[in-house]
Amino acid sequence: MPDYEHNAGSTNASSDTSDGTRDSGSGSTSSSAKSEKAKDPETDAHKHLTVRCQFCETWNRVDAARAQDRPKCGKCGRPMLLDRPVPLSDDTFRRTIDGSEIPVLVDFYADWCGPCKQMAPAVDAVAAAHRGRALVAKLDTDRAPRTASEFQIRGIPTVIVFSGGREVARQSGAVPQPVLEALLRRASVG
Ligand SMILES: [Zn+2]
Repeated sequence: MPDYEHNAGSTNASSDTSDGTRDSGSGSTSSSAKSEKAKDPETDAHKHLTVRCQFCETWNRVDAARAQDRPKCGKCGRPMLLDRPVPLSDDTFRRTIDGSEIPVLVDFYADWCGPCKQMAPAVDAVAAAHRGRALVAKLDTDRAPRTASEFQIRGIPTVIVFSGGREVARQSGAVPQPVLEALLRRASVG
């Protein structure tokens, strides 16, 4: 009479007890690697820029976050035209640079300069693409010799990026849009 060994118990295996080791729901072991606050674009919402109205010459302080909304001059009500390069002069340069809490990219150019004309569409595109995050301006070096001399502009076009009123990047010669944008990125690091 064979004495079968019943192995009925084999199907029971250990399925009932092994789950006890899982840490379900306590959350105590969740990773804290991301505890450093993620960069939140909302926190930049209330930076301002300072521009003089091109029509009535009144200075306006504009919430950068609202630059997309076609802000109007507080005095004459005409548009501030922040989607294209803002013309600067010896009179307006310093106040615009110092009064803007977002980076300012300035294209130093002259009307007679071929490479400047060549680069102008790229500058325009940067102005439109970065509206509210950077102020793009242009300065005619013939009409603003004091500023051109202050920054020792030797060749045009020259692009200078300012952050907090200080020069943080400079590039001479006509360059394509991606190079201009790379200059702007150097401003946001500091
Ligand atoms: Zn105005």
